[in-house]
Formats: sequence, C-alpha cells, structure tokens
Amino acid sequence: MFENKERTELSSLGEFGLIDKIKEEFPLMNPSSMVGIGDDGAVLDPGGKYLVLSTDLLLESIHFDLTYMPLKHLGYKSTIVNLSDIIAMNTIPEQITVSIGISNRFSLEAIEEFYKGIKLACDKYKIDLIGGDTSTSEKGMVISITSMGYGSKDEIIYRSGAKLNDLICVSGDLGAAYLGLQLLEREKKIFLENPEIQPDFENKDYLIERQLKPEARKDIIEILRKEKIKPNSMIDISDGLSSEILHITKASNMGCKIYEEKLPIDSLTAQTAMEFNLDPTVCALNGGEDYELLFTVGIEYFEQLKMIPEISIIGHICPKEEGCSLISRANNQYELKAQGWKNFSN
Ligand code: ADP
Ligand code: MG
Repeated sequence: MFENKERTELSSLGEFGLIDKIKEEFPLMNPSSMVGIGDDGAVLDPGGKYLVLSTDLLLESIHFDLTYMPLKHLGYKSTIVNLSDIIAMNTIPEQITVSIGISNRFSLEAIEEFYKGIKLACDKYKIDLIGGDTSTSEKGMVISITSMGYGSKDEIIYRSGAKLNDLICVSGDLGAAYLGLQLLEREKKIFLENPEIQPDFENKDYLIERQLKPEARKDIIEILRKEKIKPNSMIDISDGLSSEILHITKASNMGCKIYEEKLPIDSLTAQTAMEFNLDPTVCALNGGEDYELLFTVGIEYFEQLKMIPEISIIGHICPKEEGCSLISRANNQYELKAQGWKNFSN
C-alpha cells in the first residue's frame, strides 16, 4: 500500500502523479470492467443486462466532519453509502468512480489514507475503481462517488412495486448510527471546550462503528436470492425508516402499518437513547444512516422470512386510503412523518 510517513505536498506530485498512484493501487477484477483509469472514458460491458447507476455528492461540514471522521473511515463510508443504493435496487455493484476536490491543506499522505478506506471497501465488496476526477478546492473537501451494477430486467427491484398486504421487512437493527453521531458530537463539544479531556466511548463501540464504518447489505440480497424470495419493492435506509417507507408507499400508491414492538433496536441503542433523553423508537424511525434494507414481500414468504435472523417483519402494506401509521405498544395509532436529515432546513 501507500507507505509514506512524512508530509508530501500534493503540488510536488501533481494531479497526474496522484492519478498514477491511485491506478497502481486499484487493479481491475470484474469481467464487466473493460478499461478503467487512464483513457478519456472507462469502458464497461453490461453483458446484455440493464445498467444501474447511482451518484452521491458529499461536502465537508455538510455531510461529514473531519474533526471526528478519520480520512480512512471517510473513504470507506463514502463508498459504502453509494454501494448501498445499487444494492437497494437488488443489483450487485461492480464499479465506482471517485471524484475529489481538495485544498493544499491535505498532504499526499492524507489523501492516501482516504484512498486506503476506499480500497478496503472495494476489496470487501469486489468493486473496481474505474475513474474519477481530481481538482483543487479552495476550502472544504468535496467527494463525489458514482457506482454501477447490472441486473436483468426482472431482477431489478423498484420503490414502486409494493403490493396490497405485502409484509414490510427490514434488515439488521435501526437507530445505532444516529446515537453514534450523538456520542461523537457530544465528545467534540467537550473536546472543543477542553482539549485535555480524552473522548469517552467506553462500551459504545457498536454505535461508533455504525456511524463511522457502516456496511452495505449485499449479504441480504444474496440471502434473498438463495432463499428464492423476491421482494416487490426495496429501498435502503439512509434518511430514517419513516422517510423511506413513505417513499415506498408514495411510489407504490399504497399505505402502511408499522408496529412499534416489531422495530429491531439493539439494547445498547435503546440504553444510550435513554441516556440522551431520547425515545429509542424515534431514533429508529428518524435517525438515519443505518444503511439497512427496507423491502416489501408477498405474504406467502412469511414462514421463510421468520427463519432469517437478520430480517425483521415490522408491518404490512395497506390501502392508500388508510394512510401510513405507526401502531404503538399501547395500541395507539400515529401518522408516520418523514423527519429525515433536512440539509436545506436552515
Ligand atoms: P480529463 O482531463 O479527461 O478529465 P483526467 O486527467 O482528469 O482526464 O483523468 C485521466 C484519467 O484518470 C481518467 O481515466 C480519469 O477517470 C482518471 N482519474 C482522474 N482523477 C481520478 C481520481 N481521483 N480517482 C480515480 N481516477 C481518476
Ligand atoms: Mg479530469
């Protein structure tokens, strides 16, 4: 890997030197990647399938905070977040492009750390880095990642496919990444007031990891394929369960009922929520950045789904006229509202 301990100015290497170094570290592995970094365009072979493509733009201090986000984690997370979108279409991602805007505040070593994180994600998920763009930025860091996957016409799953009486399912557990963020924000505040104090994350590793090093649930679409379970609709949870289920119901012209008691919440998440005077259910509904999969499937798969520990059945699809609601433990009905991250709210 990039072995270099001193500070090397990016200017001493130049844009092309950096690109050469990146190319060296990312040999192509997928047959669909014909030509990668080095020409004016990459060449891909979808092999008669549909190409699924998704892109994200991440801006420093809007989407990430370098005070508590190590650059390696940032590279990893930026990649994962984007792969998650391709996976949520029920396709396996195979390529990414990475474009960056960086100021001279970053040394070559810092950028190498960032690419080490990307490399880790690429190796784990078998992704080829096939191109990108590099530019200087005056102030903050800018990252744009685009990923690509391929699926046959009947493999791809859309938000709009939910059917009446479908079971609503979610993978993993919810709310942990949000609480990880609360912990990091709390320690940042303490650190800014008194830099002598070391951060205290004792026994909170799971929450910090969910925030700094999330995973995309490629394993879930593989399990569903193996079990021959074909969801009717699917989305990944980036902005919180409420917001995402509303995307599915709106696109599918349906309503839904979600049961509070069925929401998968890790005990550490619940306990930490209480410490922050937050309701664990609200964290699970609105927290976001879980990158779990939310999908709806025909009721005939009920017995099969019940046997998969990584999947929880949390509700069902109902007619649009019945609206979208949460049924509380006390059996009260609340209207579900999207309260995901609002970047433009202030
Ligand atoms: P152009 O002037 O046509 O944009 P560049 O010199 O920017 O060409 O890019 C040359 C090659 O290097 C292209 O294949 C491009 O995709 C790749 N590339 C540029 N920047 C990056 C980057 N940050 N990561 C990966 N590949 C990159
Ligand atoms: Mg360019």
